[in-house]
Order: sequence, then C-alpha cells, then structure tokens
Amino acid sequence: MTPPVKFLADSMLGRLSKWLVLLGFDSRCVGRKGESDCALLEMAQAEGRVFLTRDANIPEVRGLTKVVVTPAGFEDQLKFVLASLALKADRGRLFSRCTVCNVELQTLSREDALPRVPPLVAELDTAFFRCPGCGKLYWNGTHTANTVAKLERMGIFG
Ligand SMILES: [Zn+2]
Repeated sequence: MTPPVKFLADSMLGRLSKWLVLLGFDSRCVGRKGESDCALLEMAQAEGRVFLTRDANIPEVRGLTKVVVTPAGFEDQLKFVLASLALKADRGRLFSRCTVCNVELQTLSREDALPRVPPLVAELDTAFFRCPGCGKLYWNGTHTANTVAKLERMGIFG
C-alpha cells in the first residue's frame, strides 16, 4: 500500500486546498507573505507533500513532486490535480477532515452531540463528528448533500 497523497498548496490555491481537504486529503495551504518559495519547497519535501502551485517558475527539487496548476477556476483545478496524479476521489473519505484545521474528525455519539447542535439539526438522521483540533461539530445535512451533488456534476468520482 502506498501512503495516501498529501498536499502543500501555495497561498494562491487556498480554495483548491480546502476542497482537497473536503475530499479527505491531507492538504495544507501556506504562504504567509514573505515566506520564500524555498521555505515552502523545503516544507513540502520534509513532510512528503506534493507541492501545488500556480507559479510555473518554481524550480525542480529532487524527490519532490510538484503540480503547476494551470486552470483558473477551483473546479477545473481540482480535476486537474487529481488527473495529474492519477488520483480518484473516494466517496468514503468525503468530509473526513476538518476544513479549518485539516485534522481527521472523530465520531461523536448522538448523546454528546445533541446538546451542542441547533434544534433543527437534532432532528436529522445523521452521524456526528467533532474536530479534535478546533472542536467544530460536523454532520450530514443539506450542505453536505449540495457538496456531493456539486462533486458529482464535476465528474470528480469518475
Ligand atoms: Zn478543526
């Protein structure tokens, strides 16, 4: 088994990175102002991440996979990155990470979740998840259904 692909996206690709996290990939977006390209490349290499960038002039680094993301819209960018690396989106990994922290979510029992969600959400027949990083609660509802529909329209599941 090859380990799952992880990403480091430069600051131009924040939205793309967030969608990769939504799909269940470990993806970090960095590039604080003043951070040199070199530091980003070193970080990607040290953490074994594929480097995603809009910048075609990023130098080649031995042992580092980079994808120069040419499309402008994030939908096309997402398809482009998956196609470039021959990756498939896995429905079973959808919504498995916190989109804020990029941390794997933990399941939360209904009893523990119900006092902490709005009444309408408590009516939903859904499992609940919690981010161990920021404490944000996640559940399946219209927002997740809309996201799945959008990904299906994009043909992301092949
Ligand atoms: Zn979080």
